[in-house]
Amino acid sequence: MTEEMDYGVFEVDQHITAHSRYYAGWMGSHFYIRLRDEKKIHGVRCESCAKVFWPPRSTCGRCFSQLTADDLVEIGPEGTVETFTRVDYEEPVHPRRAPLIYAVITLDGADTGMAHFLGEVDFDRIEIGMRVRPVFAEERKGHILDIAYFKPV
Ligand SMILES: [Zn+2]
Repeated sequence: MTEEMDYGVFEVDQHITAHSRYYAGWMGSHFYIRLRDEKKIHGVRCESCAKVFWPPRSTCGRCFSQLTADDLVEIGPEGTVETFTRVDYEEPVHPRRAPLIYAVITLDGADTGMAHFLGEVDFDRIEIGMRVRPVFAEERKGHILDIAYFKPV
């Protein structure tokens, strides 16, 4: 046995902050620009699967068909809460201060849901199936938080 093998695994607990930018791709760019400039939410329809996904993607996650700008469809703005959870603790990864509600929302015209925040809501009255609509941020930057949150209809 070598000397190195006499030691167990040594772990260092550290946190690294790494600011980065990435190209959202042409489909993602379309999504964020329309969201920022027009307050419109787009999904993408795969004809092969007859499903509408949001946010839009250039490749169908089910059948791998290449999707084009012709496949983009406006969805929402209203939608349905599919599931939700309440967060009562602070974590640096949360873009909002606790307590907060994360909900998976399927917008009208879409077949998939996406996680976002609920706001202007009584935490004790949230239900699966609740109808919600987006509240857009005053200052939009081409970011998913250009939708500040969803509130009950
Ligand atoms: Zn498909």
